[in-house]
Amino acid sequence: MQSNHSIVIIGGGIQGLSIAFNLARLGVRDVRVLDAGYFQGGASGRNGTLIRGGFGSPEWTGFFAHSNRLWAELSATLGENVMFTPRGYLVIAQKAETLARLDGMRDLHREHGLQSDLLAVRRIKELEPAIDEHAVLGAIYLKGGGAAPHHAAMKGYLAASRRLGARIDYQRPVTAVERSGDRITTVIAGDERIACEKVVIAGGAYSPAIGKLVGAEIPGFPIRIEAMALEPVRPVIRSAIALPDRLCYMHQTARGEIVGGAEVPEKPQVTLNTDICALAATAAAYAEVFPALGALRILRHWAGMLHATADWGPLLGQHPDVGNLWVSAGWSYGFAGAPAAGDLLARAIVTGEVDSRMAPFAVDRFRRNQPVVEGAIVLAPVD
Ligand SMILES: Cc1cc2nc3c(=O)[nH]c(=O)nc-3n(C[C@H](O)[C@H](O)[C@H](O)COP(=O)(O)OP(=O)(O)OC[C@H]3O[C@@H](n4cnc5c(N)ncnc54)[C@H](O)[C@@H]3O)c2cc1C
Repeated sequence: MQSNHSIVIIGGGIQGLSIAFNLARLGVRDVRVLDAGYFQGGASGRNGTLIRGGFGSPEWTGFFAHSNRLWAELSATLGENVMFTPRGYLVIAQKAETLARLDGMRDLHREHGLQSDLLAVRRIKELEPAIDEHAVLGAIYLKGGGAAPHHAAMKGYLAASRRLGARIDYQRPVTAVERSGDRITTVIAGDERIACEKVVIAGGAYSPAIGKLVGAEIPGFPIRIEAMALEPVRPVIRSAIALPDRLCYMHQTARGEIVGGAEVPEKPQVTLNTDICALAATAAAYAEVFPALGALRILRHWAGMLHATADWGPLLGQHPDVGNLWVSAGWSYGFAGAPAAGDLLARAIVTGEVDSRMAPFAVDRFRRNQPVVEGAIVLAPVD
């Protein structure tokens, strides 16, 4: 089989779909998305679904504040209900040094147009009556943060992209890529040869391996993250919550389940097996801060794969060595970041102009020794 598409996107997770939608919206109507697995089989169907705009660095905050704003209008943009609920996002300090760090972030968040406040314990207790006020010291409250169930967001992007003419296939792995000099000419997926002008790698944890098919270095490695759901109960937690001192995050879904996880050190590897370490760390963090959760049963526990980079930041932009190759990979907060990544990368691909909010995450930043230092993410050091 032989076909032609102006742009081929490898990977149909939320990144690939957001890029496809935004390209189609800019008038590129023959976008092709190829995914090796089933719809929502990657990290985009396995995540905690928490969304926030404010972090500790200007680079992350500039990018994610834009994404949070796009989330707020995403249902209208797509014409599909993505069920985003801006219920508020609390980043809670349990140690004095963490509280001091959070204190410094409020002005940064406000500079980027976010409603961000530093809350004393009394105010946290008013917002979250079930919290143990003796276990916390203060918090940053991001009023516009929240959560959106991944099935709704993924289905929304899929349906809207298809309506605009994008062709999206699952169970269709890219198996080889042909080049002529520094340009990709053909993407091969099983028995299909697809001639194309541009290629985007959006393969999540598998992006470095896809880079090898292309003969292009994608820095970083695959790593496992685990999460769990507690049995559904009447509302206990109102906000989306991060506990940086416990490397833990959580929220309560519309169905009443408490969903989240605590990070534990992991080795670079590909596995969807789960183990007791992450489960125990999550249970301990939950019970410490919300004692009522200690009595609930664990309903499910699962793992997903991330593509970790040396600074945990995404790789977003044109590849430095292959002229017509673009990358959206290395995502640790790639669910929250998907609307902005799709918007800014599609514009860069179509116009050649790189927005200042994506420029710091350039694919070659490690070669230039310019990592982005971000101190307000909830991720464990690599084992
Ligand atoms: C447990 C867990 C909790 C998380 N919590 C949050 C959170 O609360 N908030 C947040 O913002 N982020 C969170 N994340 C991270 C977030 O899920 C990811 O950053 C995001 O989903 C990445 O999207 P993606 O499209 O890049 O990757 P994926 O969704 O993994 O998609 C990549 C796709 O590439 C496909 N692929 C691989 N190889 C090939 C090939 N050869 N050919 C074609 N296709 C291929 C795969 O099948 C896959 O579908 C969490 C992740 C996990 C695992």
